[in-house]
Amino acid sequence: MKPNENARPETGPSSKKRSAMDKRELDAFKKQLEERRIEIVKQLENFNEAMSFLEESRPPEMSEEAQEEAAAISLKALDEQERRELRAISLALKKIKEGTYGICERCSKRIPSERLKALPAVHYCIACQTRIEKGKSA
Ligand SMILES: [Zn+2]
Repeated sequence: MKPNENARPETGPSSKKRSAMDKRELDAFKKQLEERRIEIVKQLENFNEAMSFLEESRPPEMSEEAQEEAAAISLKALDEQERRELRAISLALKKIKEGTYGICERCSKRIPSERLKALPAVHYCIACQTRIEKGKSA
């Protein structure tokens, strides 16, 4: 999907700023996303290692079933959360390459840099995110 040309924010006639993000700013986001991706992958690896260690050294007071159940539940919870974030990061990096990074998927408006700095893998502006979340809970 191509970003809507009309979605360019009004910055006044004196401003020469285009809707495209500053290259230096974009590079900073790219770096942030890549670092976060490495962090998650490491976390997943550490977690898997910890789990296999736990399996080898079962505390005797915990039954085998209880232990396995606990491990399965926590692994699943971590997996889902981390994998979702990994997917969002991959998509954001793809968008940087395509030049559509920082544009809301729902309304095609620019997502404010402040929001991207806090959540670099976000794909919606605050207004759309709020609407999506409201729709989900309704
Ligand atoms: Zn939006």
